[in-house]
Amino acid sequence: MDKIRLRYAPSPTGFLHIGNTRTALMNYLFAKHYGGVFIVRIEDTDIERNVEGAIESQFDNMEWLGIGPDESFLNPNKLYGKYMQSKKFDVYDKKAHELIEKGYAYKCFCTPEELEKDREEQLARGIVAPQYNRKCLNLTLTEEHKNKPYNIRFKVPENKIIKINDVVRGDVEFNTKEIGDFVILKSNKIATYNFAVVIDDVDMAITHVVRGEEHISNTPRQCLIYEAFGWKEPKFCHLTLIVDETKKKLSKRSGNALFFISQYREQGYLPEALFNYIALLGWSPKVEQEIFSKEEFVKMFDEARFSKSPSTFDMVKMKWINSQWMKKLDDKQFVDFTKKFIDESKFNLSGKSDQWIEDVLLLFKKELEFGSQINEHLDIFFAKNATDDQTKQVLSEMSDYKEMILDLKKKLSSLKEFKEQEIKDVIKKLGEDFSKKGKDLFMPIRIFTTLSFHGPELAKTISLIGQEKVLLNIESLI
Ligand code: GLU
Repeated sequence: MDKIRLRYAPSPTGFLHIGNTRTALMNYLFAKHYGGVFIVRIEDTDIERNVEGAIESQFDNMEWLGIGPDESFLNPNKLYGKYMQSKKFDVYDKKAHELIEKGYAYKCFCTPEELEKDREEQLARGIVAPQYNRKCLNLTLTEEHKNKPYNIRFKVPENKIIKINDVVRGDVEFNTKEIGDFVILKSNKIATYNFAVVIDDVDMAITHVVRGEEHISNTPRQCLIYEAFGWKEPKFCHLTLIVDETKKKLSKRSGNALFFISQYREQGYLPEALFNYIALLGWSPKVEQEIFSKEEFVKMFDEARFSKSPSTFDMVKMKWINSQWMKKLDDKQFVDFTKKFIDESKFNLSGKSDQWIEDVLLLFKKELEFGSQINEHLDIFFAKNATDDQTKQVLSEMSDYKEMILDLKKKLSSLKEFKEQEIKDVIKKLGEDFSKKGKDLFMPIRIFTTLSFHGPELAKTISLIGQEKVLLNIESLI
């Protein structure tokens, strides 16, 4: 069998987000599972909508996720032409005129004003989806047309059923009744998406087209073009929608879900975790397990396991998967990774030793869901923080701790070595002297030393806050 070739074909109208990443990633897995080639092609024919920096940013984020392409305009294979549509306008122009010669397309001289007027008339007559009225279909070209601008329209056969055998949806049928004669080349000589996509998929020997379901209604138009040229269609695979918890298509306005890959990078998510979660959007493995590496996904990929219903993006699960991947980091990796996310405008690290920073960060290794979440935990080590209402409430429910706290203060202030073990010994001794254990022992100590009712391992935390600040904390509450 020839190598299979799949492509992710972004328009540079925006940045890499959960939706288009899922498309890229499924193309990647599909290609890699079968030892094929993963290609990125830039569909930039809609020049006005192109966003500066979008292409570079998409490539950068794809590399970060581990789905860099085997072929793209950065590493082209000369056999397959250009990997960017704006470099191929001459090719589309030639091919569109070829269709005119073969009788599958025709020149349309209607002006935008005429087209708009006709559309409005059709709408007024109650036609919901107006189509081109074919005024130019059988035009006899004369001298007067010579220097007039024209669109090239595809001549859609009447009342024909077009069948698509989609990998996800099975057989889907369309009637050409629903499709008007559509423009394939605009008067400015720029090809439309439906035309360029077919020329490119053929030029690049694409075997499987995996894309979002919003493109399924474009597919019959593309099939007509394949047929007109006598070309073999690729296999189509339309992925179902990703929705948010309100069941709307996931977007940058979707509540608390982060949308862009760059946002995840900034907040301290790991590429392995994003890969892991996105690969489970609209695709599921045979086994119950949820944590998989890229290599495992490549190995177990199976195009028969795409979901037929929309998948809901779940930020809670995304965070959980990231926390699982963070736990897999060894201590050094965890510290190197997390340190980058400390907000130094809030937490001044100058004067803190590397060992101290490392010890503080490792206190939170088991609970961090993403890197920048570390900033929610650092107050107790830095701020001249006050107790919050919840802590005050917890303290008000405790009784009979005053003597113990006074003794705690005395013992801690006389410690020569303010280290975890020494502090543990102090706490143990207090427990014995005051006949307290469990919450009755630890909670007052925690609140007076850290000014908070929750936090990581107590003795270690106290030692890392440092003697001076701990004594001030106790003083401030007494
Ligand atoms: N350029 C199209 C998009 O960004 C891709 C269409 C396709 O994959 O055929 O949605």
